[in-house]
Amino acid sequence: MALGLPSVLPRSRPSIGELIRDPRPTFSFEFFPPKTAQGETLLWQAIRELESLRPSFVSITYGAGGTTRDTTVAVTERVATETTLLPMAHLTAVNHSVAELRHVIGRLAGVGVRNVLAVRGDPPGDPTAEWVPHPEGIQYAEELVRLIRDAGDFSVGVAAFPYRHPRSPDVAADTAHFVRKCRAGADFAITQMFFDADEYLRLRDRVAAAGCDTPIVPGVMPVTQLATIARSEQLSGAPFPAALAERFARVGDDPEAVRRLGIEQASEMCRRLLDEGVPGIHFITLNRSTATREVWQNLQVGARA
Ligand code: FAD
Repeated sequence: MALGLPSVLPRSRPSIGELIRDPRPTFSFEFFPPKTAQGETLLWQAIRELESLRPSFVSITYGAGGTTRDTTVAVTERVATETTLLPMAHLTAVNHSVAELRHVIGRLAGVGVRNVLAVRGDPPGDPTAEWVPHPEGIQYAEELVRLIRDAGDFSVGVAAFPYRHPRSPDVAADTAHFVRKCRAGADFAITQMFFDADEYLRLRDRVAAAGCDTPIVPGVMPVTQLATIARSEQLSGAPFPAALAERFARVGDDPEAVRRLGIEQASEMCRRLLDEGVPGIHFITLNRSTATREVWQNLQVGARA
């Protein structure tokens, strides 16, 4: 299934799969492609501010329904060519035929991007609506992993869900499908956001018990406002932990106290995860640098103590 691409892309830097396998934990930041000129200014401000922290890599999401195809490729290319950062592009299968997916993969290769996060995506508009594959597209992320692998020398990541994916009937089916996806050629996985370290550890144990050693990097998003809590429930398909929700509710009328608690909680959870030997931490930044920088600084202080 050759794409006419070079089978070996330039290998000046280690791939993200190689970095994640290194015993030292990776630190990485996730951004989304902007829709407006003001959004673009904010994104590049955040990228420049976080660049000085020398993250292991940064990732650029792919908008729901494939709507940001061009912006995702353009931002990823700009990160590759104008910054010191190692970029990873997310790619989803929504509304794309296999031919279109191959085209996007070819464009990424053409701008020197060789790290891709292969996710299926959700129906645009209502993420809980019925998933209908493109008539000439693919059904599951597993097939996207194979498509990217067959296209050239890419390091491929996949998504993991500590509480199980909202569409999975149970945890056992979720684990079995995750392991299949890893065996299709994933080098690493990154999780959906979660707020209880034990949920991540249970996922890691389940996957290890199934004989799969693909490293799973926790995805972390500090709560900076109460709206994040509802959004996290929608994305992760699991209720926000009740005891933690109560702590937030107690300071709910003071936005600065909510933010402080969010930074403190995320820092505590990251410390615990690092103590448990996670391969890295992937911060969902929402194109803002402050909260991520504060958590990152708390972890540096912890590491020096
Ligand atoms: P899949 O692995 O295909 O799984 C989807 C469902 O199908 C699961 O319930 C799974 O258990 C089940 N399944 C898998 N294989 C089989 C099988 N063979 N038979 C039966 N059932 C099966 N969305 C975006 O739109 N853009 C992004 O950039 C983006 N980035 C993300 C990054 C991360 C780290 C994460 C965790 C999610 C991201 N998402 C993104 C969201 C993601 O697209 C959705 O959560 C989507 O619903 C699931 O994607 P998946 O790759 O896990 O799908």
